[in-house]
Amino acid sequence: MKKNYDVAVFHGDGIGPEIMAPTLEILHQLSRSSPSYELVFTDAPAGAGHYAKTGESFPAGSLETARNADAILLSAMGLPDVRYPDGTEISPQIDLRKQLGLFAGVRPVKVSSGQMTPLALPTGKEIDFVLIRESTEGLFFTQGTGEVTEHEARETLLITREVSEKLFRFAFKLAQNRKRTGRGRGRVTCVDKANVFRAFAFFRSMFDAEAAHHPELQADHAYVDATALWMVQKPWEFDVLVTENMFGDILSDLGAGLMGGLGLAPSADIGLNHAVFQPCHGSAPDIAGRGIANPFAMILSAAMMLEWLGLTRDHPGLSNDGERLREAVEKVTANGQNLTRDLGGTAGTQDAASSVLEALRA
Ligand code: NAD
Repeated sequence: MKKNYDVAVFHGDGIGPEIMAPTLEILHQLSRSSPSYELVFTDAPAGAGHYAKTGESFPAGSLETARNADAILLSAMGLPDVRYPDGTEISPQIDLRKQLGLFAGVRPVKVSSGQMTPLALPTGKEIDFVLIRESTEGLFFTQGTGEVTEHEARETLLITREVSEKLFRFAFKLAQNRKRTGRGRGRVTCVDKANVFRAFAFFRSMFDAEAAHHPELQADHAYVDATALWMVQKPWEFDVLVTENMFGDILSDLGAGLMGGLGLAPSADIGLNHAVFQPCHGSAPDIAGRGIANPFAMILSAAMMLEWLGLTRDHPGLSNDGERLREAVEKVTANGQNLTRDLGGTAGTQDAASSVLEALRA
């Protein structure tokens, strides 16, 4: 008997629906051919287009669909021309993080041999690390409510014990799992600025407390400025990096740059009970409707979803399919054929996605 898993689907804006469609096609195929699981998809309308049509950006019913799902798959959202009366953009993906307590922003950075990267990688070196960005507090705590007077502006950075302890538990568990599956060396690095700010000394002390429970893993610290340098000079040495919200925001784009751009950068926002999987990039309105968007970051996010479901539901069939899907994208990327324009090719969205399906079948 197959086990059912409910997936809430946010199709997004701009190129969002264009990259979601082939991703769902791949997931349908995997689900159909699996002897052990069935994915059941439910659409959750939301976003800038929905707001322009209905005056509502994130209907309560869609939040409910997300809350009740086993996992949430979300394509890029928002359009620069569609805004609330106060001038800010429609971004249900940020509302979801807050509503569902998704404290861990997981950003894998992977460059296999043969893949295009702005770095000249020494022979035999590959990049494979995960950056975890705390996603609910830090310097984003006063987002939208910072104080601005004629003479000064003020935002507050918040680090709490409650969130940090969950964050570090998550980071060490991820490193354990990567070590067990042969993807990482079992190293966790706390990225902070503890030399200057007391808040980061506090952050670091909670990291050290969690590290003490994991003698089998290597735990160390790095200042954020040095980390930016090492991500360029010796990125192959990292395994799991864990950091504050704003530092993670900046370093994750540096990570995407190492992979040759946002088109290959997947992400997950994970909490204790819910998780959202989405590409790092936005809705790319400049290329929307032309069938040329790169679907790989969306497909890799779907692969992360399968791996996470497999791990949290103790369902190896799902984990295996997630890994196979990720490897299929890596194969197509390394092979260099059927790549979209952002990766130096000429393929359209559908052709690029079809070659992933072919690689999966091979
Ligand atoms: P963007 O990521 O949409 O685009 C930046 C550049 O990258 C553009 O030139 C675009 O064509 C290119 N690009 C992005 N994704 C691509 C893909 N899959 N294939 C090929 N090229 C791709 O960033 P932006 O232009 O700053 O933002 C556009 C809209 O997206 C805004 O409304 C913004 O608020 C929103 N946004 C949403 C998210 C999200 O949903 N998580 C993230 C960032 C931006």
